Amino acid sequence: MISVDEAKQYIHQHTQTDQTVVLDLYDACGYAVANDVFSPVDFPSFRQSAMDGYAFRFDDSDEDFVFFVEREIQAGDITDLSSIDKGEAIRIFTGAKVPDETDTVVMQEDVLVNGKEIRITNIDLKKGSNIRPVASQTRKGDCILKKGTVITAGAAGLLAGVGLSTIEVYTRPRCLILNTGRELVKPGHELQKGQIYESNSYALVAALKQLHLDVCEIVWVDDDEQLTISAIQTALEKTDMLLITGGVSVGDYDFVDSALEKNGVTKIFHKVKQKPGKPLYFGTKGNKIIFGLPGNPGSVLTCFYEYVVHCLHLKMGFADNGLLTIRLPLLHDISKKAGLTHFLKGKIKSTGVEVLDHQESYKMNAFAEADCLIVVDEATTDIQKGELVNLHILKF
Ligand code: AMP
Ligand code: MG
Repeated sequence: MISVDEAKQYIHQHTQTDQTVVLDLYDACGYAVANDVFSPVDFPSFRQSAMDGYAFRFDDSDEDFVFFVEREIQAGDITDLSSIDKGEAIRIFTGAKVPDETDTVVMQEDVLVNGKEIRITNIDLKKGSNIRPVASQTRKGDCILKKGTVITAGAAGLLAGVGLSTIEVYTRPRCLILNTGRELVKPGHELQKGQIYESNSYALVAALKQLHLDVCEIVWVDDDEQLTISAIQTALEKTDMLLITGGVSVGDYDFVDSALEKNGVTKIFHKVKQKPGKPLYFGTKGNKIIFGLPGNPGSVLTCFYEYVVHCLHLKMGFADNGLLTIRLPLLHDISKKAGLTHFLKGKIKSTGVEVLDHQESYKMNAFAEADCLIVVDEATTDIQKGELVNLHILKF
């Protein structure tokens, strides 16, 4: 059996970055840019007023700071006001082009208006105030986003602000969920004793949505070898990322491993020294990725967060991949046996991290509350309250 770190290294080695595509910027949120992006323009490209107020030449001010005002310039006016007279101030509005012959803007709250005359009351005003200099955000040719940066709302605004309306990004994989287990019943239907509701696909769909990924199909298969083989065969034709839940252990009715082999899938690893999710399976077929996620709902979601997210980030070309790790003090003592890495559902508080009750992998109440997974290494047995622990934040 391999360690958690080895499993992650294998995933790294065997995941290829997807193709690229040019998208309209409106549709590009959540994708990673496929190249360094350079600004085609200076931003701002002209000196902009930062305030509603008055533009004037600072060195023209008389001792009383009094100016006459006859002309105005509005945001969007493209003609330059020239021949500014001595003692003249120009009424100006936020975002407007500051006339070339002026060098300072006073905000309107800092003047007294008397007919066509203004007197500046702010004696601390400095030459050059309230003017956004040319290229003060971005100079033409500056790298504004590094390859692999994910387009957030802020990044979309940055790109559009320099005039880009399309962007080349890495594509997203099509994901298919295959549920195994004859005991499973779709929520909303009646349950017989001996049956349980199928919940894994709901957790996975929700988690994939956090990555802006839609599931192309959810397929169910009974615990039957032939049916599992043909369900996997059809699934592999339709998808780049196959997420199978259940049927991956060593029970008499677990057919996933052999069915994957019969479908020509190369097994990269099967079983990881971890709790929950020890029977985790990872394989490839060409560029396609196959995860066999141990069926207990807590195991499925832990393995998704710890491994599938990492793999999806790599496929989608994210420069930062996997969950963010931080260190916080533990709010209780914990102890475990050496031998497996434990992932504990935790909740971050202002003073540290709490280990939630109901850690067993068949239960989902802790996961419903958790915002992190506390990572307790293979060799560790006891951690005292107050000691720092590594946590993976369940946000990506
Ligand atoms: P397995 O990995 O198939 O042995 O399943 C382990 C446990 O997870 C069993 O108790 C299954 O009933 C349960 N299980 C498997 N698949 C699902 C699912 N899709 N939703 C909820 N529970 C599941
Ligand atoms: Mg099963």
